[in-house]
Amino acid sequence: MYVCGATPQSSPHIGHLRSGVAFDIVRRWFLATGYDVAFVRNVTDIDDKILTKAAENGRPWWEWVSTYEREFTRAYNALGVLPPSVEPRATGFVTQMVDYMQRLIDAGFAYAASGSVYFDVAAWVAAEGSDYGSLSGNRVEEMEQGETDVAGKRGAHDFALWKAAKPGEPSWPTPWGDGRPGWHLECSAMSTWYLGGSFDIHGGGLDLQFPHHENEQAQSHAAGDGFAQYWMHNHWVTMAGEKMSKSLGNVLSIDNMLESVRPVELRYYLGSAHYRSVLEYSPAALQEAAAGYRRIEDFVARASGGEPVAVGEWTPAFADAMNEDFGVPKALAEIHNTVRAGNKALADGDAALARDLAGAVRAMTAVLGIDPGEWASASAGASGAAEAALDVLVQAELERRAQARADKDWATADEVRDRLAAAGIDVTDTADGATWELKG
Ligand SMILES: [Zn+2]
Repeated sequence: MYVCGATPQSSPHIGHLRSGVAFDIVRRWFLATGYDVAFVRNVTDIDDKILTKAAENGRPWWEWVSTYEREFTRAYNALGVLPPSVEPRATGFVTQMVDYMQRLIDAGFAYAASGSVYFDVAAWVAAEGSDYGSLSGNRVEEMEQGETDVAGKRGAHDFALWKAAKPGEPSWPTPWGDGRPGWHLECSAMSTWYLGGSFDIHGGGLDLQFPHHENEQAQSHAAGDGFAQYWMHNHWVTMAGEKMSKSLGNVLSIDNMLESVRPVELRYYLGSAHYRSVLEYSPAALQEAAAGYRRIEDFVARASGGEPVAVGEWTPAFADAMNEDFGVPKALAEIHNTVRAGNKALADGDAALARDLAGAVRAMTAVLGIDPGEWASASAGASGAAEAALDVLVQAELERRAQARADKDWATADEVRDRLAAAGIDVTDTADGATWELKG
């Protein structure tokens, strides 16, 4: 699978992460059903907006993009999105892009003009086997792409494979002059480098269908590559019917969202709609989803009765739903049906049946990346285990301090206390002995 990743120029919002979660579920279902999945998700680390924003803020472009790339990685990790098999950056693929352009020029489908290299849409449309417009349904006559008044540009719909260097902008050398990657070319170069000229699935947000994916496909087919066999596009997140924009993006940043719900609840929410449907955001819908998730979690906790339930097997209805174009809404309905049956079993005093059903719930939720057992141990691993280890060490210090005080060795007692304070640990003396906590 190749999925178009972020162009990190500002903090991620839930529109970005919806795509991350949607394709993570696709990948997890393939993995759960026995496929070996090579999953490539790129980072577009050079682009007009990155250069503009970095310049506006007086920062180097490479520092700007790296800063936000790390924010995206943190957000993916927070929501339990599996790391990609590889995460290539556009600027690392200039050699492959030069090679791709040479192949297109040799085939008669690209040309250099004013230091840039353009894809010749008219030549490709006229060629045998051309399918330009088939992905998006757009008509060539109605297209206008990129800059219009470039000397030597043959058609208004020709798009840039490579952009001529502008003063003050980063550039790389090519046989046609110094410049920087065009957006569409980078994904053809990166996907085929890792996955071969023909591969199974290409994914991305619906807003990428045109022009980005249409042009990727045109380049690759014109170069003689079979390219993606299946295209998958996840739909938008909207708020009050409006597509996510920059202003909404600030409101719906991942950090903001995680102030009102836990990461697993946000993931449940973002994954709950079918990937091809619009997800209409409202605070009420988010809270409703969070409550829905807690019903699953509560049941698994009650069914376990303190003894962790092992992951069992999903039900046939769940598999049917997932096999029908990754039908998560139906799959979730099946999970909730199983939870209801499990709660009834608990009410009837049938603990064994409840445990079986909880095992099935764990298997099904694992496919969606929301298994309560896994999330509970992940958060315990991050804080619980570390705190328990720290407690052992601090208690030893507190015993040494108590002994010093009993020996009236005030210097040693103060030294222990000061050392703990310097490490950010507050000690409080109570009637039952000293207690400790990390300073807020
Ligand atoms: Zn792409």
